[in-house]
Amino acid sequence: MERNEKYRAASWWITWEDLSWPNEDIADKFRYRADQSLASGINMAIIYGAHFRWDFMPLWMNLHDMIRFVADELHQRDILLFDHHSSVLTHRYSNQNEAQAMRLHNRHHLPFAPSRDIAAEWTYKGMKLNDWRMIDLITGKPVFLEQYTAEQFCMNNPDFQHAYREYVRLLLDETGIDGLMSDDGIFYSGWKSCGCEWCRKKFMDNYGHEVPPVRDTSFWGNYHNEAFKDWIEMRFSTTREFLEGVRSVTGKDFPLMTCCSDSVGSNLPGYGMSYQEFIKPCNHIMLEMCGNTPALNGSWQSNFPAQMLHLGIGHENNAPCLGLGYGFSEAAADFIWAFNKFLGSDTWFSTLKGRLGLRDSEMLSLKDDIELPVNGFNWEKNNPGIFDADTDSDVAVFFSRWSRDFYSMTEKDYAADYSETCFEMLRNNITFDVVTVIPEVSEYKVLLLSSASCLDDAEYSTLNKYLKSGGIVIASGPTGCYDKRANIAARPWLEQFGIICRIDEPERIAAFPPCSKQKDIIPACRSIFNGSNVEINEWIELSSGKGKLVWSPGRMQNLTIKLSTAERLRNFMPGEIPFPADTGWKFRIYRKGAVRIIHALAASFDLRCMDELEKARKINKGNNLIDSISKSKNISSAVSLELKWNCETVNFYAPLDGLRKKIPVKNGVLDITLDNEVYYFILEMVVK
Ligand SMILES: [Zn+2]
Repeated sequence: MERNEKYRAASWWITWEDLSWPNEDIADKFRYRADQSLASGINMAIIYGAHFRWDFMPLWMNLHDMIRFVADELHQRDILLFDHHSSVLTHRYSNQNEAQAMRLHNRHHLPFAPSRDIAAEWTYKGMKLNDWRMIDLITGKPVFLEQYTAEQFCMNNPDFQHAYREYVRLLLDETGIDGLMSDDGIFYSGWKSCGCEWCRKKFMDNYGHEVPPVRDTSFWGNYHNEAFKDWIEMRFSTTREFLEGVRSVTGKDFPLMTCCSDSVGSNLPGYGMSYQEFIKPCNHIMLEMCGNTPALNGSWQSNFPAQMLHLGIGHENNAPCLGLGYGFSEAAADFIWAFNKFLGSDTWFSTLKGRLGLRDSEMLSLKDDIELPVNGFNWEKNNPGIFDADTDSDVAVFFSRWSRDFYSMTEKDYAADYSETCFEMLRNNITFDVVTVIPEVSEYKVLLLSSASCLDDAEYSTLNKYLKSGGIVIASGPTGCYDKRANIAARPWLEQFGIICRIDEPERIAAFPPCSKQKDIIPACRSIFNGSNVEINEWIELSSGKGKLVWSPGRMQNLTIKLSTAERLRNFMPGEIPFPADTGWKFRIYRKGAVRIIHALAASFDLRCMDELEKARKINKGNNLIDSISKSKNISSAVSLELKWNCETVNFYAPLDGLRKKIPVKNGVLDITLDNEVYYFILEMVVK
């Protein structure tokens, strides 16, 4: 793989049949598949299956030998191989009903698992695996995850930490893999875990608190209690430290990532899940786009705020960001590739056949993963220079982690405002990046802050520095009213501008599980100028140093504020934002030296599914068998763009349709007529 290439990854599924390794027929199958991978333009394969790796302990030697064979075959074709497994989950079933549920819903894991009685006897280097299990805080028994028919080992158990690091060492020694995705080291069961002795000890040793019983709501779910906030902090540090343990084995540059389907939501402290923590030990980012891409209603916007956050974390840490999309057809693979390219992500395409609830005999017509992403991957392979550009944007949207971690009991407290900001930028076709630290003015001219109620000391001062050196801050809703841990700030950030801002806080109801009884209310924000009784109801504009603060007490969840935000932005960037809103097309613009590259993707789609197979499914949730994706009828096939740049011709590409041509720019206007099939196109121009 060349240095400037992005990952074009597909899943490499292990099946029951493969476990008969060593086996010459399987070896032939793998050689054939490696050839196919090369023909499909794949430059990285990711192992999927044999997922709950501890359940495969009796087979590790053979499994690793098989992975080494795959790695060798792929390496001969200049393709990388990453392993991907769950570090902490183990399938456990007590009876035939549970066994059946495990096999039906998790066939893609290869749910090879001992029965409970046998599992109770399993040891690794003299340690009983059962002693590593997470304990349910309510029942005092091992945590049981019904959706996976599984239990989980605790990341804070030192014996387990040691054992898993030993496993990773063995895996690397025996397989020759090029990267690792170590999954699921989060509190998978949410707030009900973990009550094991090691979590209790860590809470006492590091924070000085006992873990109280769940009936004690002076602690549980009490967002005014510092000890409870320590519990939140410990959840995030636990998941990070566990991956740091993995990193200590892999060495510093080895590609390492972990599974993550979101880093935005208010529910994430319950899981200790955020790529803002994972990126400290990891050097690769991934976003699992759960469900259908696009959704069955033809939209693809729902994951956009999380995607932008992950891409932002990738940008800040110089780490590639893989968008994992699931599908079962060429049409789905085409779209998932185009969508990732539009966003600026690396691509990971995968089927998820084990979640369909179909028999193997019913799925014979479905192709292997590596046969599907042929169009996009080969086009990208042959045109790498198009995809290694950076976003061309002067606009950044700030994600306020503390407003989420220590303040948010519902989405409406913060995350919804951040997401609405991303949606509104998208609706207006304003290319932007997300930042998790306040940037320098040289990086972004305009910074959007939406209901960033909680600012830490560093954010407080870097924000002032940003303004002082000429930055424009467009902020809405409560801004810096609280400190990092959501306590009233000693120096509320807005007060230095003569603004007294108060939040009408709803009653915050402590409960176990935390947040479960909290009413879904948007906390309103009221403000006056210091020393007056005059309420501020509109956007106000204040100079600060060389920069400007544009602020409104209204929140992005309020439609009026949302719709007027882009207008404020345009006031400061006349002519900088070339794309009209609501054309039916979404645009993002990238830059590489003097070359500008515009990606355009239709905003909505009409989908068709494989109806007969859909009817045969025994599971009706999750991914659907989409086999036709076309842009919605109402999306125009004529696009006219006023270009702000000085260029005479533009290279037009529709990669999925095999089209390329030069289009002249007349009087600064580019008129494009598209074939009906085209839903994704790229414009490349050299600016004089
Ligand atoms: Zn624990």
